[in-house]
Amino acid sequence: MAVWRTRVGIVGAGPAGLLLGRLLELAGIDSVIVEHRSRDYVEKRVRAGLLEQGTVELLRDAGVADRLDRLAAVHTGFELRFVDEAVRLPFADLSGRAVWMYGQAEVVKDLIAARLGKAPLHFEARDVTVTDPENPVLRFELDGERVEVRCDVVVGCDGYHGVTRPSLPTSTVRTYRHTYPFAWLGVLVDAPPAIKELVYACHERGFSLYSMRSPEVSRLYLQVDPTDTLADWPDDRVWEELHTRLATGLGHELTEGPIIERGITAMRSFVSEPMGHHNVFLAGDAAHIVPPTAAKGLNLAMSDVRVLAEALADWFTKGDRSGLDGYTRTCLRRVWRAEEFSDWMTGLLHRFPDEQNMQFRFREARLRYLAGSQAAMTSFSENYVGSAAA
Ligand SMILES: Cc1cc2nc3c(=O)[nH]c(=O)nc-3n(C[C@H](O)[C@H](O)[C@H](O)COP(=O)(O)OP(=O)(O)OC[C@H]3O[C@@H](n4cnc5c(N)ncnc54)[C@H](O)[C@@H]3O)c2cc1C
Repeated sequence: MAVWRTRVGIVGAGPAGLLLGRLLELAGIDSVIVEHRSRDYVEKRVRAGLLEQGTVELLRDAGVADRLDRLAAVHTGFELRFVDEAVRLPFADLSGRAVWMYGQAEVVKDLIAARLGKAPLHFEARDVTVTDPENPVLRFELDGERVEVRCDVVVGCDGYHGVTRPSLPTSTVRTYRHTYPFAWLGVLVDAPPAIKELVYACHERGFSLYSMRSPEVSRLYLQVDPTDTLADWPDDRVWEELHTRLATGLGHELTEGPIIERGITAMRSFVSEPMGHHNVFLAGDAAHIVPPTAAKGLNLAMSDVRVLAEALADWFTKGDRSGLDGYTRTCLRRVWRAEEFSDWMTGLLHRFPDEQNMQFRFREARLRYLAGSQAAMTSFSENYVGSAAA
């Protein structure tokens, strides 16, 4: 067995793990990242696409935003469609902050390119385990050889289904969870978006979202039943439903094209408190999940990592552990604000299976208020761009 030593062992090469590795590298702190999937798989995983300004600034500070600054589209508003209305919500004018459309897979590619050849990043590690939160050790198999990494700190950036959170003693962790009675079918379409800004559409048949990944590629979502499978959604049905829901009685623009990727995502809210135990910490989806409606997941993951990287630097360079001790408290304020907003936005935009006519009308009244009130739009905008007080 090979025995290695590092300051920070990082489980998972998603956006959280890779950015943490990058920030530590810039602070002169060594780390080892282990990922159980292949490089090709993580670079092609289609997920988030909306970056808050704080996330973009962090990526710039980390020196990994050259491509982002060249390729991403900056958005300052979106359109809200429901019943007989289509209203533009100018969130940047109301909050002073914009958002950037840049695929998560591109963020991951940029971070991998910045690390490879400079610091340890191991793909296709098998049977990864984390033990002993006081003196943490990572173990895994790499190219047929068992490896043990002795670490000062291990950070689980291994997502909701990872191994780090379950390695913590159950008596120390409290979890909160809610599963929504619908899912999202997401399709990636090889066709230029016909419109420049996102469209959130509420229809009596359910929610749909028109978004984009690049000037050539559109990304569309439909609220579907959580028991649906991809076989239930052949191309014809996807397009028919998108045309119906995005029209909302107003006419619409929708460019069809070949569907190049599709997936169904469960909708859930989840928080694990605290976000660590002794010298094992959790960041990103490993610690919390939001339904994707408000596009908060990736942004929360990046925000956790910023706080954790600073706290680790204080500990390793000054012997000051106060940042690490306060890590959970600092992050959870923002996490709970985003959890609540994501739940609220999900409730506002989706048709619940047991929704009565009266409740549908209540939602309509809420949407009209949001669309017509400067105060409501401003509060919404602060939350949407991630600048609301927490
Ligand atoms: C359809 C969809 C749309 C979304 N849209 C948005 C959006 O617009 N904006 C937004 O902010 N968020 C969005 N999100 C959420 C966002 O994608 C996640 O919050 C984000 O990926 C979290 O990053 P992470 O690094 O914490 O976790 P992940 O991206 O899940 O990365 C975890 C990594 O750990 C690896 N791993 C797991 N288990 C192990 C193990 N045992 N050993 C080693 N490695 C392991 C995984 O392979 C993965 O590479 C969306 C999510 C989905 C599914």
